[in-house]
Amino acid sequence: MPKFQAPRGTRDLLPTDRAVFLRLEDTARDLAMRYGFAPIETPIFEGSAVYERGVGEVTDVVEKELFRVQAGRGGSERERWALRPEPTAGICRAYVQHGMRTWPQPVKLTMTGPMFRYDRPQAGRYRQFWQFDVEAIGDAGPAIDAEIIELAMAFFGEVGLTDVQVLVNSIGDATCRPTYIAALTDYFRGHEAELPEQERARLETAPLRLLDSKDERMAGLVAGAPVITDHLCSDCQVHFEGLLAHLEGVSIEPRLEPTLVRGLDYYTRTAFEFYRSGAEGQQEALGGGGRYDGLVERLGGQATPGIGFGIGLDRVALALAEQDPTPAAEPWRPVAVVVGTDPDDTVVRLQLATELRGAGLASRPDLTARRLGKQLDGAARAGAHFAIICGDELEAGHVQVKDLMAGTQRQVDVTELARDLTRAHTQHRHGDDA
Ligand code: AMP
Repeated sequence: MPKFQAPRGTRDLLPTDRAVFLRLEDTARDLAMRYGFAPIETPIFEGSAVYERGVGEVTDVVEKELFRVQAGRGGSERERWALRPEPTAGICRAYVQHGMRTWPQPVKLTMTGPMFRYDRPQAGRYRQFWQFDVEAIGDAGPAIDAEIIELAMAFFGEVGLTDVQVLVNSIGDATCRPTYIAALTDYFRGHEAELPEQERARLETAPLRLLDSKDERMAGLVAGAPVITDHLCSDCQVHFEGLLAHLEGVSIEPRLEPTLVRGLDYYTRTAFEFYRSGAEGQQEALGGGGRYDGLVERLGGQATPGIGFGIGLDRVALALAEQDPTPAAEPWRPVAVVVGTDPDDTVVRLQLATELRGAGLASRPDLTARRLGKQLDGAARAGAHFAIICGDELEAGHVQVKDLMAGTQRQVDVTELARDLTRAHTQHRHGDDA
């Protein structure tokens, strides 16, 4: 085994995996922009306080999973950083820092990139993973809550995942959540002896967290716990009903899930998660999100409502591979390889390939000084559609085009070559060259 390996919980995305991610990222960006979300990029690390204050100190993400960054000599308060575990806190920090409240509201932003959590690595759970994220800051909903959920569903549809279901809940707000938390705390206190140690400690600091505990021993207790939707205040109730009405308006049938609370402190009211039907275990969520009406204020801005989601691209890629194991297309595969009868004349092959690429055609020259037969073998192995053979006829302005898929060969005028190859390749791809 080689001495140096990618760190535990991370992986190299080799070309075929990276091609899948690129397609997902392209779809995500195009779709989000079609819905009016503008691209933003925030740093991969922030001051740790952004997460401690934003995400919340008593959350798995901050307590156990934050990747803290130590600078060379490090140590001062100003030099406490952490790799981003999720994008929302950094985007809201940017919203405050750049005075985006003076922009037309809501400010709709999208970002796709790597996130970092020091989690126990397992299938679908990595220490570096990719999220497609959208945030709409400055709209109290509930219509936009439904619009965002619909956007996520459209994404799953466009990338080809057909069986995704959304689970929704309302987790109340500062008015009604305290009464619910009191009822929940009473309930768990009544079962204190059955609580695993960590959950017992959390009972006093963050009792909601017990509902999304990853500890399997908690499942039975959680099933019997009081549910938030029985405790919503009238504003939250109206908001939740508004969300459901708008979802119905765009033909989305959510599954109501009263124990869905999400793992981060900043959520209020709408909370949702996406699963493939029949895969509702916690490790399997494809994405999730919710409303965070208090977050901008926690980060030093004015009280501003907001909502967003994060979709895990690693899990979407895994689900797609399960659904259809055929490897994805490889856009870097050459359409044409330029070969030559004179093994040593690499100049002419480089020249011609350069011209073809300038005309937009994926092509590469064979730059080895080997015999034509070997060059043709190489072109076939590279999966090229055509081999362009440069020989003596080039002086008269012609090359031979060998169609490696059809096994045919013909002479083509060099000035027509790019157009000719593009046409023949497109026709072949659409299956109408018979
Ligand atoms: P969360 O904010 O924890 O709900 O994360 C949103 C989405 O990101 C999840 O539904 C997953 O698809 C993905 N995700 C979260 N943590 C990980 C991880 N450690 N590895 C891979 N994907 C993850």
